Amino acid sequence: MAGVRVVLVGPPGAGKGTQAIRLAGSLGVPHISTGDLFRANLSRRTELGLAAQRFMDAGELVSDEVTVGMVADRLTDPDTENGFILDGFPRTVAQADALAELLARDDHELDAVVALEVPEDVVVARLLGRGRGDDTEEVIRRRQQIYREETYPLLRHYASRTVTVDAVGEVEEITGRVLDALRTRT
Ligand code: AMP
Repeated sequence: MAGVRVVLVGPPGAGKGTQAIRLAGSLGVPHISTGDLFRANLSRRTELGLAAQRFMDAGELVSDEVTVGMVADRLTDPDTENGFILDGFPRTVAQADALAELLARDDHELDAVVALEVPEDVVVARLLGRGRGDDTEEVIRRRQQIYREETYPLLRHYASRTVTVDAVGEVEEITGRVLDALRTRT
């Protein structure tokens, strides 16, 4: 494979982070999570982190402008030259368009979009067990609603490059399904 430029899409709690780390390890590309980047900025108390905080606490999306700027910056790091696994970005069609533009500057495009499919009651139960600061029931519900309204439409936008993977099961098993799906795709 020349490059592995992959986006993981799925509702909060679908296991994107867990799978993205495993896939990045086995494909030899970095895992880029916008949620992790925001949390790292927040723990360093950067301006960007502090600006993002109230959105994160409420389960709302940080503005496309701030989010895209942060990703654009990360994609200039040399470790992304041969690809990446993006986790939690894009989350809106506007972010997807911005990403396509960023990649086109280097004559690149996405190789695949992996849609992790999990029923909503399963993801809510998982998130309640995770215990992160933004994992209260109210915020979880809001994040699921935003997923349905803003992010789910991305799968239509990306239809021609989307592979759908059943994300209920053992972690290793799901990684295997994603790798199989990518092999047939990229
Ligand atoms: P996550 O770790 O992916 O669940 O993200 C945690 C929080 O970070 C989200 O609830 C949003 O407030 C913010 N966030 C992460 N990724 C994005 C994105 N692509 N666009 C806007 N906000 C984001």
